[in-house]
Amino acid sequence: MIYKADLHTHSTASDGQYPPAELARLAAKRGMDVWALTDHDNLDGLDEAAETAQSLGLQFIHGVELSADDYLNLHILGYDFSVSTMRPWIDGKKKGRDDRKYRIWRFLKGKGVDVPLEEVDAEAAGGAVGRPHFARVMLRHGVASTWKEVFDLYLDTPEFQEIEKGTKPSAQECIERIKDAGGKASLAHPYQIVLHGESLEELVRRLAGYGLDAVECRYPIHTPEQTAEYLRIAKTYGLHVSGGSDFHGESKPDHPLAAWELELDWLL
Ligand code: AMP
Ligand code: ZN
Ligand code: FE
Ligand code: FE
Repeated sequence: MIYKADLHTHSTASDGQYPPAELARLAAKRGMDVWALTDHDNLDGLDEAAETAQSLGLQFIHGVELSADDYLNLHILGYDFSVSTMRPWIDGKKKGRDDRKYRIWRFLKGKGVDVPLEEVDAEAAGGAVGRPHFARVMLRHGVASTWKEVFDLYLDTPEFQEIEKGTKPSAQECIERIKDAGGKASLAHPYQIVLHGESLEELVRRLAGYGLDAVECRYPIHTPEQTAEYLRIAKTYGLHVSGGSDFHGESKPDHPLAAWELELDWLL
């Protein structure tokens, strides 16, 4: 059966703009049948999201987006896992995010950029701190003039990648933990991994071997050629076609909430 769905969204529990309840209302307004909340390394928004979605008659799937160590921006989406099984591990990652915050701060200081950490914390407003929170503060202080520039010059450089090495779980661990908790695993925004052709296929084949269920083929900024490539690879390895917007709020206008038409029998 085909559903209108967005299986990749962020709330204030990580680096999104809207609290989970508000996001649920926006999702219902967008005309979705099925909505998943997938905050970065964080499960704190799920209860509020589930409650509000239910009151709106919107089918909710609890999720999470995990950053894997194998490649920069290799992200694994987990869905419908046992929250109590996953929680201790994910909560441990929150501590990791806290350590990372200081690592990023020191890295920027080494580049001559002094970012007031209390302002970064204020941006995160109690949610898990991420690079976008740093980016907002840096823009406010005139460190760079555009969002893209902040990432190109500081937060997404090869040097930045070095400080991340060895701090994240492998994709294998992410997938196996999701599967062991009874969930489903999907490869997020494949274009961001910056692999093509044979090397992307090699990665997907390996992830399928660990139990990957789906590939996020439908994504707002995939080109038609990229979408076609991901659909072909998914089919080759017997993976389901998933889709999400990566909605974070108005700060990312290229990622509006989506209502992809998806076959979701594998998930529901
Ligand atoms: P983090 O979870 O701290 O690694 O931050 C990930 C978020 O940073 C993503 O969801 C994007 O919002 C943002 N981001 C990462 N790389 C880039 C980039 N090259 N350009 C713009 N935003 C980026
Ligand atoms: Zn994010
Ligand atoms: Fe991501
Ligand atoms: Fe995301």
